[in-house]
Amino acid sequence: MPNYTNLKKRKSLLQLARLCLSLAMLMGLLAPQTANAQSGIYPEYVVVSGDTLYGIAARFDTTLEDLVDLNAIGQGDVLRPGDHLKIPTLEGMRGVLSTDYVPLGASLSSLSRRDQAKPADLIRLNQFTSPSELFIGREIVVARTEDQAPSEPMPSLTPGQSLVEASILSQQNTWQLASRNALQNPLFALPMDTYYRPSQTGSDNNLAIPGVDAIVLDNLPLVQGGTYVLKVKSSQPVNVSAELAGEHPVFTDVGDGNQIAFGGIRALIDPGVYPLTLEIGTAEGASYRFDQYVIINSGNYVMGDNLEVDPSTIESDNVKNEDAIFKSLVAPVTPLQQWEGAWWSPAQDVDCVISPFGSRRTYNGDPKLYYHTGLDLGYCKGTDVYAPARGTVVAVLPDQIVRGNVIVIDHGLGVYSIYMHLSEFKVQEGNVVEEGQLIGIIGTTGRSTGPHLHFEVDIQGIPVNPVTWLNRTFP
Ligand SMILES: [Zn+2]
Repeated sequence: MPNYTNLKKRKSLLQLARLCLSLAMLMGLLAPQTANAQSGIYPEYVVVSGDTLYGIAARFDTTLEDLVDLNAIGQGDVLRPGDHLKIPTLEGMRGVLSTDYVPLGASLSSLSRRDQAKPADLIRLNQFTSPSELFIGREIVVARTEDQAPSEPMPSLTPGQSLVEASILSQQNTWQLASRNALQNPLFALPMDTYYRPSQTGSDNNLAIPGVDAIVLDNLPLVQGGTYVLKVKSSQPVNVSAELAGEHPVFTDVGDGNQIAFGGIRALIDPGVYPLTLEIGTAEGASYRFDQYVIINSGNYVMGDNLEVDPSTIESDNVKNEDAIFKSLVAPVTPLQQWEGAWWSPAQDVDCVISPFGSRRTYNGDPKLYYHTGLDLGYCKGTDVYAPARGTVVAVLPDQIVRGNVIVIDHGLGVYSIYMHLSEFKVQEGNVVEEGQLIGIIGTTGRSTGPHLHFEVDIQGIPVNPVTWLNRTFP
């Protein structure tokens, strides 16, 4: 793997430095240190898959020529993930540049404390023009030095508590802690601000609320049809409520001071910036409210085809009545998480996708735009349908006009999976099914143009991309 460095340039800089030093010694003077200018030091960007030289140059506001020149890239050289590239426009800055997403609760000062970076460097790296641009989920570039110890947020200061007291409680040297957090004096620390201490593991938490150890919005960046999890850990009982893009994810107490809420992003929501509000009430009656904007990205869903189906399956009243039944079926948030780990594919061949989640479509030439609320798996290796994870069968409904023969499984915490167009049922309402258990047979009942399984995941009634659940472990 080539590591692009410009030896020639380095050599000539070294020679120049030697010459300067000799001149200074001759004159009996030491040349005054000039800050950053012509330092020959550059931060290095680590290439990730999908990067192009053009893209990297544009991102760091430099030209292709300067990037190629500084890194001595030859004509035949291929850019590979993991390669390090010096960035010409960032001379004087140190560290390795990597991509991250703005976490919940982040401010310019908390990010710079977390990464031990200068706020000015963060601004320069990301061309921020205002602090209000720190939207949750925004892609940012951060500079980290390789020897940098990970940090974690300290419990936030309670009103009247000083950083001196907090540092003693967390067995840290007060002055080192103040310096790590860019405080000239530990007495300048404020409650409701986030301070970091060295840690073994690091942490995503950036939000300081007294009595709350951590609040994290997981699975950033948010996308249309995406799943997210809000996780709260507190050392005392707290009441948490949240609103994100107009929805109210429901928190469940999962023990040890942890509360989590699953949420879904609507597939048809316009990509853009949406408000997130968190309200936290303590047992003593104190309440805290936190607001920050969050970015919802496009899911890049494609426009699919017009499908010819039985006209009764798109008749407005039929669709409305059936939707109302299913909306109420998946509404309850049962407090026990039944699944463990990533989900299995419900059909034998997960690659046998005949229609992905989210694609836009029309029926019978009618201009009304629908989107695909699940993942359609054809039968390539077999017609059996399996439970992808542990759960309770809450509905086995035959002959639905749109959904055909349907099974609904409650996995807990507001997460449901739905199986449509089946030809046969292999379970009954009330059964607890294990992952990999046979639950039905693929068919073509309801609004269907041929035998396939429509596999859907709903979170509090919002269909989300099921592929997410096959690829990562929640929470
Ligand atoms: Zn489908």
